[in-house]
Formats: sequence, C-alpha cells, structure tokens
Amino acid sequence: MRAGPSQEDIRRHNLGALLRHVHLGGPTSRAELTSKMGLNRSTIMALTSDLTAAGLVREELPRETGRAGRPSLVVRPESSRVYVFAFDVGPDRLAVARVGLGGTILDRREAVRRRGPFELEELAGMLAGFARQMRRRTRADTVCVGAAAAVSGGVRKSDGVIRFGPNLQAEEMPFGEELGRRLGLGLPVSVGNDANLAALAEHSRGVGVAVRDLIYLHGDVGIGGGIIAGGHLLGGHEGYGGEVGHMVVNPGGRVCDCGSRGCLAAEVGEQALLEEAGKLGGGQHGREAVRAVVDAADRGDIVAQQALKRVGDWLGLGVANLVNIFNPEMVVFGGMLREVYLGSAAQVRSRMAVHAMAPQRERLRLRTSALADDATLVGAAELAFAHVLADPLEVLARVTG
Ligand SMILES: [Zn+2]
Repeated sequence: MRAGPSQEDIRRHNLGALLRHVHLGGPTSRAELTSKMGLNRSTIMALTSDLTAAGLVREELPRETGRAGRPSLVVRPESSRVYVFAFDVGPDRLAVARVGLGGTILDRREAVRRRGPFELEELAGMLAGFARQMRRRTRADTVCVGAAAAVSGGVRKSDGVIRFGPNLQAEEMPFGEELGRRLGLGLPVSVGNDANLAALAEHSRGVGVAVRDLIYLHGDVGIGGGIIAGGHLLGGHEGYGGEVGHMVVNPGGRVCDCGSRGCLAAEVGEQALLEEAGKLGGGQHGREAVRAVVDAADRGDIVAQQALKRVGDWLGLGVANLVNIFNPEMVVFGGMLREVYLGSAAQVRSRMAVHAMAPQRERLRLRTSALADDATLVGAAELAFAHVLADPLEVLARVTG
C-alpha cells in the first residue's frame, strides 16, 4: 500500500499555491485567499505567517474596506526584496532583467546583437556582466532566487544545452552551464525556447490569462511556437515540441534553415516577406525592416501589399492547420508576427474561412501579444520563479543559508 502525502507535503504544496496566487494575482486579502484556495482561515493564517517569516510576502492592512468590522489583512509579494534574473537571447537583441516576485521588472539592460555565429563565452560574459551591474545597485537585504534564459532555438530541458538554433547560428551549445558559471551566484540557469516561454507569459500575465487552450506564434528571423493545451505547455517527449514554424505548408517551396522546404517559417519569416517586398539585400533586416513593409502597405504601396498578401496566405494556412488539430480558444501573434498579422489579418482570416473547420473556427479569437517585446523576458522570469513556487521555503533556506 502506498502512503498518502504527509502533513509536510501538504504544507509545502499549500505554501507554493498561496505564493503563486499573490505572485500572479498581486496583493490579495486573507479572506479572498481563504475562498480561492478552499482552505480554512487558520490554515491561511499559518501559511502566510510562514511565508512572511521567510521574507517572501508581507501582510498589510487594506487602505479602505468600506465595511464594518475587522478588515482582512492583504498579502502582497515582497517584490523589491525577492527577485530573479531573466535573460533573452534573440537573433537581434540581448536583454537582461531583474524581475521581482509578483512579476515586476525592477531593472533591465538591453544590447543589440549583431547577427553572426554564436560566441558562447563572449555572449555569456556580456549577459553576466549586465546582471552584475544590476546586482550592485540592489539593497543589501535583497535576494536572488533564480535565473533563466529564453533563447531562439531548441533547448534540451535537462541541461540547458541549445541543440539547434539556426537563427542564432548555435548548435550543441552548453549555454545554461556557461551562463551559470559566469553569473557566479551558485544558482543553476534554466534555459527554454523563447516561443514556449512567451506562450507561458501570455498565458499567465498577458492576453491569454484564464485561456486554457492557446497557441502562441512568435516571429523573428524564423517562426517559433508554444502550444498550451488544457493549461499546460506541450513540450513533447524531450521538450522540443511546438516547432510549428517547421510545419510544411508549401512542399517544394522556399528552402528553410532546418534543411527542409516550404516550412511555415520559410514562407512567412522575415526573409520571405522582405524578398517579396523587394527589400532583401539592402542591409535591412529585423523588426524595423518588417515594420517598414507593413507601413508601406498601409500607405498604399502595391508591392508591399502584395508581399503581405502572399505571406498572409501562408500564415492563414498554417494557423488553419493548427486550429484544426488543437482547437485552441485563442491564437496569439507575437514578435514580428504581431506586425505581419496586423498587416495581413484579412488574408489570414479568408484563408482560415476556407481551411479551418467550422466548429474549431467559430469561437476562436485571434489576438496580438499583450506583452509585446517583453513576452520572452517575462516568460524567462516565470521559468526562473517556477522552483520557488514549487517549494518556497526550501529555496529560500538554500539561497540565504
Ligand atoms: Zn524548417
């Protein structure tokens, strides 16, 4: 016979659940926590006092209750004291943020990344340098409880190795290990795919809060995706799932970075759009170049309009396939796909009207990312907080002990 969970297991679970509530929902009264968590008042009081003693939350009297009687204390996360480092490595941008418990970005640094081979040591050194700069500006009583990075590529979950990252020109790079060593905080650095993490970010703090079935499509040089089904990210057997950018939409079409042809990323990615618009080769690339094509189309430029129409056709076809398979409640366009979708929404919708099945399409919402360029960074922060929320006291004892 298997033993059930011990009192200690239950306490640990409840501490994590309570901390998650205030981390994602912000300051919450004890009374609300009691009803939301389905626990009695004395249990909530005991849990909040443990978390308060650990310095993870604090309790305050609400400003105004408007009701007679003793007001319920409000539990708020210790956002300025407990933080993580979140890193984002994209094809064109490096970003580092110090993010407080509760999701507040407390400080940040950004640098332009020049496209070219992935120089592991130089890159990790630069990111760690930014983190050190920010750390020097913190008060003495602050505590860093985690670190995580979003990268544009496929990442092995177990050790943070970038297995493939054509957009970063990275292959088999032990990025998590190198960044952890350079940070020197004695903390492991979790690494995740940027589109997967952005999907989680939109789901927990962005346009898809409370949406349990959501597909997020992230455009950069290529296209990445994150599929949330039943509230959970689909990672697949080894965490490489969700590569919707390499779904073939046009067999015999454009050659893709992955070695295949006619992938969604090859037909809708930055290069395809700029080439269709006659803008390839002039040294222009990245978000600005994509935006320029969308702006030109808005102003009536026929070539730009045609380019967006063609790209929108493929995008609509790709989304129709995904919608038929996963029946999401919402599809979110992020990264440069935000601009592309806004410039080609009519085309996307008309493709979907033909190729997506009616029951899947009827109540589907197509949206652009609410967190915009911060989605990947916010997602990395959530990944860094994940182990704190799983076992708050153990983590705090380890980092302060
Ligand atoms: Zn491909």
